[in-house]
Amino acid sequence: MAIRNIVKEGDEVLAKVCRPVTVFDDRLHTLVQDMKETLAKANGAGLAAPQVGVLKRLALVVDDDDSVLVLINPVIVETEGEQCPTEGCLSVPGVWGKTRRPAKVTVEAVDENGKPVRYTRTGIVAVCFCHEIDHLDGHLYREHVTEYVLFDD
Ligand code: ZN
Repeated sequence: MAIRNIVKEGDEVLAKVCRPVTVFDDRLHTLVQDMKETLAKANGAGLAAPQVGVLKRLALVVDDDDSVLVLINPVIVETEGEQCPTEGCLSVPGVWGKTRRPAKVTVEAVDENGKPVRYTRTGIVAVCFCHEIDHLDGHLYREHVTEYVLFDD
């Protein structure tokens, strides 16, 4: 297992559309484990494979109970309502912005063993579902920012 380098805004890998995962082998499991370690070390709320330079439809989202949800080939199947969270991104360090996202999001995906999973979440986890799946299509949350937020250190 290893910590992987998180690519930053401006790297063209973040603008690409990722390919579906079709093989659930040791190589994929190693990638998932590496991404979990990388996410924990960066203290993030989510991490998408293109952020570590891998163009696969795989993302991790930290759940309400601090466990890590593994979302492979995820699709948003239902949304409800609206919220205006403040978002940041590990690939856009030091920048925060207010966005508009659905209040409640249902995602269908498979896990690292190819088993179907379905999660319905609200709050920050729902925001993360949208944010990470955007990454898989080459989009950054900046596209959703209505207003940037300045924090004093
Ligand atoms: Zn991000």
